Amino acid sequence: MKIAIAGAGIAGAYLYRLLQNESRDEIQIYDHQHTTKCGISPCAWGATAGFNELLKQVDMEPENYILQHLDHVIIDGTEIKVDIVTFNKPRLISDLLKGAAVYYTTLNTTKYDRVIDATGTSRAYLPPIENDLVLLCAQSRVRSDKPLGNRVSLGYIGYAWCFPLSDNAYHVGYGSINESSFHALSEICKIWKRDSHTVCACEGKIRITCPHHSTPFVDNITIQGGSVPVWGIGEAIGCVGSLAGDGIVPGMKSAQLLVQHRDDPEKYTHSILHEFKWMKNERRVVDKIHRGEKPGFGDAWVFKNNARRAGMKIGLKQALSVLKGLGKSMNKKTTY
Ligand SMILES: Cc1cc2nc3c(=O)[nH]c(=O)nc-3n(C[C@H](O)[C@H](O)[C@H](O)COP(=O)(O)OP(=O)(O)OC[C@H]3O[C@@H](n4cnc5c(N)ncnc54)[C@H](O)[C@@H]3O)c2cc1C
Repeated sequence: MKIAIAGAGIAGAYLYRLLQNESRDEIQIYDHQHTTKCGISPCAWGATAGFNELLKQVDMEPENYILQHLDHVIIDGTEIKVDIVTFNKPRLISDLLKGAAVYYTTLNTTKYDRVIDATGTSRAYLPPIENDLVLLCAQSRVRSDKPLGNRVSLGYIGYAWCFPLSDNAYHVGYGSINESSFHALSEICKIWKRDSHTVCACEGKIRITCPHHSTPFVDNITIQGGSVPVWGIGEAIGCVGSLAGDGIVPGMKSAQLLVQHRDDPEKYTHSILHEFKWMKNERRVVDKIHRGEKPGFGDAWVFKNNARRAGMKIGLKQALSVLKGLGKSMNKKTTY
């Protein structure tokens, strides 16, 4: 098969490496030239549980990319035990794409047997999602001689974060679906970073819609009288947790599922919905908070279980307090 992968982000790059190792397809990759210092967008930083296994599957050594192992995070003053890592995403993507033909031109879909939509929030080739739920984010990499900590401050369906990349480098960022909250969180980050030096900064979006509201995952593009099948992976098909906005490991997993079910659109769709059914539950909790309803223990249970799967050891009461924090009113007049 001649395959075009649109989008050289984490999901597209990981799919390329899987296909290189496991098939004889001819693969070409398309993306936009990024003007960010690190050369990609979004840069992101944190990988949840499952990252090591995914890299080992493509014969890559996780420790070559891991920057810091985090064993705790302070969420609004409360210490939560975690087992997550920060990693060098630009380097990982560059290594996954070693030997790949990457084009920064317009993709002519008629030249291919299949197009993969790995274009993240753009979802440039699959049909648009009705009632898409996307939050706006901004982040910067900073250097600081003073320790900035390892922390999260909750906002209205969003949060600000500060995570270490080394002894004197940090990722500091924030995101929310709500404009007032976005600005309030940006002020918190300004305080956190006041004694630091900004190395680079960028903006981005996170789709927290969830896969169950992001169908179809497979469709056809009809162009010049011909029809080309398009298969989506990663954030293009909503593979992101709605509560924490974690899309790196899920995006890589979706690429794995595509390879497993590459000839059967129905099985592929079913496998994505099955693998990420926890995201549907998270989305339900987000909707409840967004409707202004108080989260209860049932919602906390959803978060607690999903957080554990992602590498966060959180109790039921702590989970409930985090959910209440995500409903915090920061003047929710405008919603993106
Ligand atoms: C600020 C920020 C911080 C985040 N932090 C984390 C985190 O710490 N941990 C975590 O798990 N997740 C995090 N996320 C979410 C995570 O980054 C994404 O879910 C994940 O990168 C999705 O991977 P992807 O490959 O599907 O899409 P992307 O990484 O968005 O890649 C899509 C690629 O497609 C390209 N593209 C777009 N349109 C076109 C087009 N028309 N033609 C060709 N190419 C196109 C883009 O340029 C991009 O390179 C963060 C997101 C943001 C915005």
